Amino acid sequence: MFDVAGLRDEFPLLQAGSGQAPIVYLDNAATSLKPRAVIEAVRGYLADYSGNVHRGQNALADRASQAYEDSRRSVARFLGARASEVVFVRGATEAVNLVAGGLALAPDDNVVVSLLEHHSNSLPWRARCQVRVVPLAPSGLPDLAAAEAAIDARTRLVAITACSNVTGVYVPMQAWSALAHRHGLPLLVDAAQLAAHRGIDVQSLQCDYLALSGHKLFGPPGSGVLYGTRAALERLTPLNLGGGCVTHVGLDLDYELRELPWRLEAGTPDIAAVIGLGAAVEFIEDIGIDAIALHEEHLRDVLDAEIAAMPELHNHSPSDARAPILTVTARDPAIGSEYIARVLSDTFGIMTRAGHHCAHPLHAALGLPATLRASLAFYNTEDELLRLRDALRALLRRGARG
Ligand code: PMP
Repeated sequence: MFDVAGLRDEFPLLQAGSGQAPIVYLDNAATSLKPRAVIEAVRGYLADYSGNVHRGQNALADRASQAYEDSRRSVARFLGARASEVVFVRGATEAVNLVAGGLALAPDDNVVVSLLEHHSNSLPWRARCQVRVVPLAPSGLPDLAAAEAAIDARTRLVAITACSNVTGVYVPMQAWSALAHRHGLPLLVDAAQLAAHRGIDVQSLQCDYLALSGHKLFGPPGSGVLYGTRAALERLTPLNLGGGCVTHVGLDLDYELRELPWRLEAGTPDIAAVIGLGAAVEFIEDIGIDAIALHEEHLRDVLDAEIAAMPELHNHSPSDARAPILTVTARDPAIGSEYIARVLSDTFGIMTRAGHHCAHPLHAALGLPATLRASLAFYNTEDELLRLRDALRALLRRGARG
């Protein structure tokens, strides 16, 4: 039995205010709520041992360094990686930029991405080289055959999201890693959305790089991970240089980089956030990611059935093999997605998101300026989905005039 009620107790933002129903939080793809364990880990560092990491001979620095490296070990276990393969960054955006900037791409090189990508996995490449955008097949998945055709002698990397932040569709990564590796190319997986919903094992994903954001994984903003195999990380020229990333600097400023992963973490990192991320992945491990996936699949099916019974809505999310993310638009063009999200929030206390979700090209291909997205996490309940359904019904029947 999945103890949703017990888990909800761990999230301060899910508790009812005086005389008020708790909010319904369905914007988890933007950022997730934080459990007490994470809040306490951050508070504990800030209040009790806020030393710097790796650079002091004092008790606070020791404790901070210990907690920071413990967090790296927890994240490594969570991903099936080695600690030396886990680079802490501020989020998925910074992870992708670290690879794009570190690979010394030439303007005529190209990187293959898909139409599903978040801007964070397209613009860092676009700023440096050519980008080949793989269109979607009718299944809603990036078209593998088109990707095969897009690869040529100037292709340097394949970069693909494992889960769309718009439609929620899971992209079967093994096929993409087989494709990339058949052409001798590294594969970068954007796991920003996948991480909260499915277990990640970098060994079976067979990826060279993987990017994720801690704040979408119940951890603090400012925490994120670039995973890379040793060979893949060694290929990167550090974007940041400074304290903490070198073993030696000579009088004429010749320098020697430290070993991985620290050579890619120059400067004081966001220590509190990283320690919070360690607490977050331990929290998820305690619940069990497979139990989370089962509960979420059930919720997704309930939501799909309710939305299917509302002819006023167009569902843009394919029906199976996807995260608990649902993206819709009103069939009545007078009822815009932004309007719906605003009313859901301000009248009904239901947090969703409207817009292009940092995926302009996908929205352009769909011919839509904006969509309305409800994205779930393990702490959501069927009751909350019924509140969403009732609110949508009331709102759509009332129409755009309110
Ligand atoms: N990739 C995907 C698929 C995302 O959904 C997001 C965040 N919406 C990002 C990358 C970027 O994450 P962040 O803003 O935390 O760096």
